[in-house]
Amino acid sequence: MPPRDDAESEQPESFDDQDEAAADATALETEAEVNCPHCGETLTIALDPAGGRSQDYVEDCEVCCRPWRVKLWYDASGAAEVQVQAVD
Ligand SMILES: [Zn+2]
Repeated sequence: MPPRDDAESEQPESFDDQDEAAADATALETEAEVNCPHCGETLTIALDPAGGRSQDYVEDCEVCCRPWRVKLWYDASGAAEVQVQAVD
């Protein structure tokens, strides 16, 4: 077995000046479809690639106006991985 290159599991500590280059090299998704954890509605939310490859924020549902906690990651290809949780 060749030694594994562990780069993928490294946390973005040395990210500072790679951020801009990465954003240029990859087209990061700017929207994602989510299901509201409160009302169950499927919505398309806008994402902000400028916020970084890994984000965690609170946003209100456009339908029922209740808050979600949004967790967002971009993978190496620029695809967004989004999870929403209910916030009370
Ligand atoms: Zn809702």
